[in-house]
Amino acid sequence: MTKKTIALLPGDGIGPEVTSVATSILKAACGAYDVEVETEEFLFGGCSYDEHGEPVTEETLDACLNSDAVLLGAVGGPKWDDLLSEHRPEAALLKLRKTLGTYTNLRPIKIYSALMGASSLKPEILEGTDILIVRELTGGIYFGKPRHTKEVDGDVVATDAMVYSKSEIERVARKAFEAAKKRNGRVCSVDKSNILDTSRLWRKTVSELSSDYPDIELTHMLVDNCAMQLVRNPKQFDVILTGNMFGDILSDEASMLTGSIGMLPSASIGDKTGLYEPVHGSAPDIAGQNKANPLAAIASAAMLCRYSLDLSNAAKNIETAIDEVLAAGYRSGDIYSGSDDETLLSTELMGEQVLKSLLKPESVAE
Ligand code: NAD
Repeated sequence: MTKKTIALLPGDGIGPEVTSVATSILKAACGAYDVEVETEEFLFGGCSYDEHGEPVTEETLDACLNSDAVLLGAVGGPKWDDLLSEHRPEAALLKLRKTLGTYTNLRPIKIYSALMGASSLKPEILEGTDILIVRELTGGIYFGKPRHTKEVDGDVVATDAMVYSKSEIERVARKAFEAAKKRNGRVCSVDKSNILDTSRLWRKTVSELSSDYPDIELTHMLVDNCAMQLVRNPKQFDVILTGNMFGDILSDEASMLTGSIGMLPSASIGDKTGLYEPVHGSAPDIAGQNKANPLAAIASAAMLCRYSLDLSNAAKNIETAIDEVLAAGYRSGDIYSGSDDETLLSTELMGEQVLKSLLKPESVAE
């Protein structure tokens, strides 16, 4: 058996509930391929502040950096809202992303046929949608300099600079091409090259890099058109590659295609350890009640298998198990419509159903 070490950061609110379910599924899925997952758990976010006076300790950051991957629940809650910014739970997330050097965010947008009704789009438009948004995470206008607000000639002028270097574009584009190899082999690079210099460099760099990936089909699209195409014909996309701000906006637009925030996983990767977490927050309104939907955390564990452990089959098995559980009508409260063919389950029981489906002998992909 190969051994892999995963740093577990359950965090606050519903974080520990969904992470515990996701961990048991991760262990079972990897076990089927002779990979033993050893987990080490650390306080992170508000709970770490309560215990250590800081939202993340250096020991935790070191342990994360030295593990094979990090699985995170969620952080934050009203108890910590009034702390100084460096003590707030969100500060722990920023420090962790910086420590791990995660310059790429991966957000899959997959439509589960059983949940088609939860989306605001018509089923015939949504059916078959399966997109991966690859967003640059540490550059562009959110980090560019200069950044200031100044009085100029009696007026007030604010400036944010959009800056990208060729090497920043290349490294995230490589992640997109690599991801496309594990999917349907298509990358659509999204920019605003009719207006912006950074986008012209983006398009040129991605086009040049594509010669290293002759099996991947590369297309380009302007960001305004992409925003439209996502709601007009989302199934045309496989991998969407884009910069920080465009990716922020497009990934939130695309996430609404799926209907519920409790279903959305994410990964942040760079050249060191990868970080996997559900998109949702700590949901203080339902924390501690065994009501949270664990499927986003479970799907994040599937991404961990695919991108950090190179266990695509284990990832596929987890994703198929989620599909089967939904198709059988099992629902947590956030995706329960009350219809007769649905069964409302707690967090733990949803996890048990996924595990049952995963452990069926015929579920192990070759
Ligand atoms: P939230 O995502 O926690 O909750 C929004 C709504 O969605 C709530 O009604 C909640 O009950 C519901 N919801 C979220 N996840 C769910 C799940 N898995 N199952 C069922 N229902 C779910 O967002 P919020 O209320 O804006 O933020 C709450 C706290 O979480 C804040 O402190 C915020 O700063 C923090 N937050 C953390 C992260 C993170 O850790 N990455 C992300 C977003 C928000």
